[in-house]
Amino acid sequence: MDKKNRNALIAGNWKMNMLASQVPAYWQGLEPGAKLAEGVSSALCVPFPLIPAVKAALAGSQVKVGAQDVSSHDKGAYTGEVSAAQLADLGVDYCIIGHSERRAYHGESDGLVNEKLKALLGAGITPIMCCGESLEQRDAGVTLSFVESQIKGGLEGIGPEEMKKVVIAYEPIWAIGTGRTATAEQAQEVCGYIRGVLGKLYGEELAKGVQILYGGSMNGKNAKELLAQPDIDGGLIGGASLKPEFADIIGAANE
Ligand code: PEP
Repeated sequence: MDKKNRNALIAGNWKMNMLASQVPAYWQGLEPGAKLAEGVSSALCVPFPLIPAVKAALAGSQVKVGAQDVSSHDKGAYTGEVSAAQLADLGVDYCIIGHSERRAYHGESDGLVNEKLKALLGAGITPIMCCGESLEQRDAGVTLSFVESQIKGGLEGIGPEEMKKVVIAYEPIWAIGTGRTATAEQAQEVCGYIRGVLGKLYGEELAKGVQILYGGSMNGKNAKELLAQPDIDGGLIGGASLKPEFADIIGAANE
């Protein structure tokens, strides 16, 4: 299986933006351009309280709803946490885990990301597991070894059948929200390397089927070149997913 046999995924990450009352107008702006070609999927990963409003707005559309985090626990006395079962109950299809903002501001380790990944798989939700290096790590030449350690840590104990249900997102921290996109060559180098790591862990055939996304200041202008890379199967989009421009990125994936 190579790129043309893998489906593309264009996922938006709203982060802590938007209000439920703004969702209908947002969707009105996006909907005309949010038609998906065969082999292209899309999802909006939104704050927990907005899930019902987004789910209602997207009813009848092919765009799915995702979350941005999940508890590693099943249920119980974990004040403020949201379980995978609760997300599944709301009809959530995807969930981001291990985003660099959660790693930086909430101390999330690869071990915790691994527990969250297992919780999502148990609830039938597709995890979008993020990895990516800081600028210091890139400058120190340790990008590939660092990303490899995140991948291995996040996937600890995940068997081949489960791995088929996992999406990986490579997001260099220095490119997130900065307007400084990785070049297509830089993004491809790491995404190709990640596929190689997956090949060593699960065999080449399985690795060829895994969706690997790029994230970091992807927009309507640079999406086409990034998505044309052999190991980039889609995008995780922050800022541009809040605007109708998100449809241009879907359009680039449709081509
Ligand atoms: C992100 O938050 O995952 C992201 C890639 O953000 P942005 O597109 O704004 O860089």
